[in-house]
Amino acid sequence: MKIAHRLSQLGMENAFEVLAEVNKLKASGREIISFAIGEPDFDTPDNIKQACMAALSNNSTHYGPSNGILPLREAIAQYIATSRSIPVHANEVVVMPGGKPVIYYTIHALVNPGDEVIYPNPGFPIYESVIRFVGGIPVPASLVEEKNFTFNIHEFKKLITPKTKLIILNSPQNPTGGVLTRENLEAIARLAIEHDLWVLSDEIYSRLIYSGDFLSISSLPGMKERTIILDGFSKTYAMTGWRLGYGVMNESLAEHLTRLETNCESCTNTFIQYAGIEALTGPQDSVERMLAEFRARRDLIVSGLNAITGFSCKVPAGAFYAYPNVTLACQKLGFKSSKELQQYLLYQADVAVLAGTAFGSKTADDPHEYLRFSYATSRENILKGLQQIQQAIER
Ligand code: PLP
Repeated sequence: MKIAHRLSQLGMENAFEVLAEVNKLKASGREIISFAIGEPDFDTPDNIKQACMAALSNNSTHYGPSNGILPLREAIAQYIATSRSIPVHANEVVVMPGGKPVIYYTIHALVNPGDEVIYPNPGFPIYESVIRFVGGIPVPASLVEEKNFTFNIHEFKKLITPKTKLIILNSPQNPTGGVLTRENLEAIARLAIEHDLWVLSDEIYSRLIYSGDFLSISSLPGMKERTIILDGFSKTYAMTGWRLGYGVMNESLAEHLTRLETNCESCTNTFIQYAGIEALTGPQDSVERMLAEFRARRDLIVSGLNAITGFSCKVPAGAFYAYPNVTLACQKLGFKSSKELQQYLLYQADVAVLAGTAFGSKTADDPHEYLRFSYATSRENILKGLQQIQQAIER
């Protein structure tokens, strides 16, 4: 097939591939317990659904502005200003169909071929994929298990060169559940200012944090102007399928991202934006309930994972992922990589997880094997799944 060369640079998100495999197995009658996909298993709160239905009844079914309807941008500006302690104007907000397009458009807007982009490893695979797609050079920065999946700043510094254009951060993180410390963020802010770099701060899990307050790098002195905040509704309000997210950035950059959006989807679905206003300004008790349930599941899964032969798991501080080190289990079973363990567990334990290799290549400074467990599933499933894994490993 004669397709454009650039497509050979575009990666995939392994979670969707495993999901397809799980669905195939389920269709053949197998009962699979899935820890593979990163989405809350809760339903979208009723008040949000009602707001959407009201908007439909009011015929909010037409094209809207490419950067989003003004009342939603105002609600987002207010929310980000309060939660990050920075001044935000509605013109600095660009609404998009999900958080993911913020990654795609920001990288397209900022990165020339040959520019270097530092991004977390392990990390959300879309970063590396889009960096490569535009001809940028991906420069992975290791998140260190012994440091609760934060950066070793001494090593991080060495990654910066005259070609560095952008740093991508994600906290709380996918896939590790780690949260970057204030010290990490302050050191990276100093580097970004010293070397005049942009920072894309992926804060999609900012409301899913189990102790302490969330800190955005944009709140640190001198950082607001050079930071693009990515946030959205998918995880916080269990709205993954609605496709609603946003970027917050300085107004000039916002105009460029808006232009990209005009060229691609014209605008984000209009009636869904009204649901977004309700999500941000309506009652927040569903977020609190979801967080409390995730905390209980986190405690359950971490202690269960640590009881499995050859697994050792740090306590994640945020998001809904656990990221156990499974090097010893791989050795016991004679597997060369976590990918083999992933497949073994799928077919021998009826449990779906994602291999650490789905989140970036292994680096010399961390030769270990990991699996990602999304604990966005019931406590009953967590207990059953862990038991099946233990049995398959002991077999
Ligand atoms: N960023 C990270 C780190 C994610 O894990 C995800 C989704 O899994 C996204 C962005 C994308 O979110 P959305 O579904 O709103 O596009």
